[in-house]
Amino acid sequence: MVTDSTAAKILQIKGKRLSATDNIRGFLKAIGQRNKKINALLHINENAAAEAEAVDRRIKAGKAGKLAGLAIAVKSNISVTGMPITCASKALENYNGTFDADVVAAIKKEDGVIIGMANMDEFACGSSGENSAFGATDNPAASGRIPGGTSSGSAAAVAAGFCDLALGSDTGGSIRNPASHCGVVGVKPSYGRVSRYGLIDMAMSFDQIGPLSHDVYGAALLMETIAGRSDNDGTTLNNKVPGYSSLLSKTKKPKIGMVWEFEEMCTDRRIYKMIEEKAGEFAKDTNGKVSDIKLPNVDLAIQAYYPLVYVEFFSGTRKFDGRKYGRKIEEACGEEVLRRILGGREISKAEYQGTYYRKALKARKLISEGFEKAFKDVDVIISPTTPMLPHKLGTKITDPRAMYAYDAYTIPANLAGICAGVIPAGKISDAPVGLQVMAPAFKEELLLQVMAEIEKQSL
Ligand code: GLN
Repeated sequence: MVTDSTAAKILQIKGKRLSATDNIRGFLKAIGQRNKKINALLHINENAAAEAEAVDRRIKAGKAGKLAGLAIAVKSNISVTGMPITCASKALENYNGTFDADVVAAIKKEDGVIIGMANMDEFACGSSGENSAFGATDNPAASGRIPGGTSSGSAAAVAAGFCDLALGSDTGGSIRNPASHCGVVGVKPSYGRVSRYGLIDMAMSFDQIGPLSHDVYGAALLMETIAGRSDNDGTTLNNKVPGYSSLLSKTKKPKIGMVWEFEEMCTDRRIYKMIEEKAGEFAKDTNGKVSDIKLPNVDLAIQAYYPLVYVEFFSGTRKFDGRKYGRKIEEACGEEVLRRILGGREISKAEYQGTYYRKALKARKLISEGFEKAFKDVDVIISPTTPMLPHKLGTKITDPRAMYAYDAYTIPANLAGICAGVIPAGKISDAPVGLQVMAPAFKEELLLQVMAEIEKQSL
């Protein structure tokens, strides 16, 4: 397990005490030894060591970028030139990226080295990392348990010491849920913060690409790198995310909300108690205050999210008709993907419009308004990330609603388009538990500041 902080690693590389090449070689070795068991990476970049040598030359010339020599794993739904972009599906088994996603181009520009493509739930549908057509991922921080999904391989690759940083995507919790289960840091940016160009969408009005890291420093650094306006994605804004150094000023008397409705929904009381205590410590440390807040309708988040996601997913997958990218999706996909395609087709029929889709849109709006109102009274909201601990790999979950329940606390942020991040809070029954911080849209600076503060407390 790599324990060095990202900041220390960068200093080592920039100070030439560790070459980029040795950094990458170290990870390739660890991957060679343990990836077979963990199954975090589906593809290893054969050129990684050669690319690191080129970075070393730029370091020598004093021209290296912010991510010089760091190894970055990329979720298999984000396009990287020449690498298999399979979405962990047989439908795209032989599809290779023909261009770099905006986020990947940004990483390469800053001299980060793409170490490989990470495993995931097929087409980013799921919560456990078990839906991959290429086998489930094990949880390096709690072996034998699920790593969480759908950015299962990205979180596991960080936790296993296969990379410095990773990219995931989050439609309803897919960065935060595995970050929580694997004991790492993960951030879902505000909708419109990071370009989605080159992301194979799961549900386009929800998806955001975001960072996973050992620490808040790494997450902030990757955020800073990938955020910003792109002409390729009209939803992006030109706001920059400041670097970590500007986060270090002490958070002043933060007003912290804990959602009253969430407590009821927590199926494992121990998780809620741990997060409540952490929030209390954070408040004490910063002269802040924790108060109970209400987020009306938040208990409907899962019911609102799925009809919308089913319809958007169904529509987005129509391009996988077997003519261009590989096999026809319906003929090659697993059960959960098929459920969403068939469900989405049904829900979007004209005669059902008012019944499901419109109602879900209304609920989405009400939940967004609830956040707007809540953020008038509090600066940030703290909650658990999942209402239960990660189950044992292979546990039979026959009712999809039991799987959907994992995302009860993460989906609301996607419905509202706000930003949210997760940091490790501790362990229960040997399984990591993550604390979620939610902040208003485009307040990533505040979000990361609070996360950095809580992280410092735990050290
Ligand atoms: N578990 C949620 C779903 O299956 C979220 C997935 C995601 O964020 N990509 O839709």
